[in-house]
Amino acid sequence: MSTFRLQNTAVALALFASTLTSLAQPAPLPRVVQGLPGSVQPIAPGYRAGQALPTLTLKTPIPGVRKIEYLSNGFIEVAHVLITLPTGGSRDAAALLTAQRAVTATWLARATLSEVDVSVYGAGSYAGFGGPPPIMTASVPATRQAEFAGLTVRTLSGYDRAWLASAAQPIRISPAEAYEGPETGPTYVGSARQALAQQRAQRLSGLRGSRTDSSVFYQGDPGTRQIALTFDDGVHPLYEPLILDALKRSGARATFFIVGRNALAYPYFVRDIVTQGHEVANHTYHHVRLPSLTAATIRDELTSTDVLLTGLTGQDIRFFRPPGGRFSGKVLDIARSEGLITAMWTDDPGDFNNIGQAVVENSLLSHLRPGGIVLLHENVPDTIRIMGDFVNDARAGRYQLVTLAELAGPK
Ligand SMILES: [Zn+2]
Repeated sequence: MSTFRLQNTAVALALFASTLTSLAQPAPLPRVVQGLPGSVQPIAPGYRAGQALPTLTLKTPIPGVRKIEYLSNGFIEVAHVLITLPTGGSRDAAALLTAQRAVTATWLARATLSEVDVSVYGAGSYAGFGGPPPIMTASVPATRQAEFAGLTVRTLSGYDRAWLASAAQPIRISPAEAYEGPETGPTYVGSARQALAQQRAQRLSGLRGSRTDSSVFYQGDPGTRQIALTFDDGVHPLYEPLILDALKRSGARATFFIVGRNALAYPYFVRDIVTQGHEVANHTYHHVRLPSLTAATIRDELTSTDVLLTGLTGQDIRFFRPPGGRFSGKVLDIARSEGLITAMWTDDPGDFNNIGQAVVENSLLSHLRPGGIVLLHENVPDTIRIMGDFVNDARAGRYQLVTLAELAGPK
């Protein structure tokens, strides 16, 4: 079995010309910090480290509060409080009490915040976002400060923007076996003959402006002036309310490819996406590279995420995107058998490489095309900051920003 990298071939150069010409080829690849298999999903992994977000310092420190970061989308500011607590004792009560004190203190430190999100982890197992799951999470809009401050463990279930691990339904899923490094272009893993067949199908679909194979979606109809915005790797505290606010202000709709383990701990953000008119889609449970996994594990990664997302939103999940863009015939077959359409993209400005606002925005605008599918990541500050301008510029170019389901048309 050989690995055949599409983006290194002449055909792929044509297919992904926009991606390749918009970025100086980064080389060599950086060393990736390894984590436990499937356990670590770095924030915006890329060729360059992201800029640190601004932080707040509390006048009176609160034990357990590790960091308070905040970010603006140009209209509103949102903060995220990271708390770690020793395990043992009445953990839920301690988590809630510390979260309440920290949220109140955060608003005292910065009154202009529109929302404060909070994640509480066990101190002994904390390994960053994507490590072992938190004990508790909450999202507190400014209008609900008093309500959150008055909650007890007993009344917490009545607050729809909090999650407690001890009260969550367990998700049955086999442990993931692969570690996901920085994202790359779509990469077909298989024999050279299989890769050529895949390229041919993709090239034909591009020429025709639709899919030749109904289980894979590469591009919308070039006869319409519609573009699908897609955001991968959600959902995240801090970033989710900012990106949803930017989209709401501009009236654009988008599709969010969500990692199951993130949806589990931040279910209220998944519901926000759908209630605001956007679409949720499947990006596996652990954000792992699929081709090297067993068929049973691949199926588990897809179905557990579908079950979770459907349970939260009541919607059938129609689209799936393989993490890192790595797919194979086996991955496509399993997705198809689960009723999922594998969704690729026409434009990848490489926002996760932290290449700067202007570069991302120029790359996006210079490659706008009818029927295009734009790949972005919601947890990249540059992407958050340019979203308002980008949507306005796309509108000025008479483009309509729609979900993948709208771009694909009825089933
Ligand atoms: Zn991803």
